Amino acid sequence: MIKQKFLLASLAMLLTLTACGQPQQIAPTVAAPTATVFGVPTLAAQPPIAQQTQSPTQALAASPESVCMAPAQLTPAMTEGPYYKSNTPQRASLLEANMKGIKLVVSGYVLTTDCRPVARAWLDFWQADASGQYDNAGYTLRGHQFTDEAGRYQLTTVIPGLYPGRTEHIHFKVQAPNGPVITAQLFFPDVPQNKSDGIFDAKLLLNMKDASDGKTAAFNFVVNTK
Ligand code: FE
Repeated sequence: MIKQKFLLASLAMLLTLTACGQPQQIAPTVAAPTATVFGVPTLAAQPPIAQQTQSPTQALAASPESVCMAPAQLTPAMTEGPYYKSNTPQRASLLEANMKGIKLVVSGYVLTTDCRPVARAWLDFWQADASGQYDNAGYTLRGHQFTDEAGRYQLTTVIPGLYPGRTEHIHFKVQAPNGPVITAQLFFPDVPQNKSDGIFDAKLLLNMKDASDGKTAAFNFVVNTK
């Protein structure tokens, strides 16, 4: 009889312990961010989901930039063309005094294919001026920059002019730290020459808006990180 009571008491204690232990084991799994949560550097550095006032994915959706839907398509690569120069100055604005043309501010993110922002990604831009001329002697309208810790970049420049055989475009190179370089060109919507340009790719169209002093445009680059 005593032995029976002891067995029952032991069983009850075991059940209690199991019941108490379970939620502690499940809770961290539920609270852990998934692989597709935007901007999660490490599990330890990320506050619990419940404490976030706005998820990083919502932050991206609420921004003027387009929404990233995983798996995002890699930014397509295309010809570099004949006018690239390395060792460009580091600057986010290519504007200079007395520069002709319509001011353009392009901004967005460099993202991975699973929509994570890429901090310290390298971006190098070069383009023709408003009359369609490249500066091949110096570095006018050429410059590189790096994304910030949230994977954002912003380029201030002018809308490039047309030159024979091509539609309007801004050349770029983009690279995640230790990732492969993608070389391609950004294009402008509603330019009649887009239809006849053999290099034009609609996946690289800027999303343009009017601004008080020119135009703004959004574009998100998607890169491989290794
Ligand atoms: Fe060009």
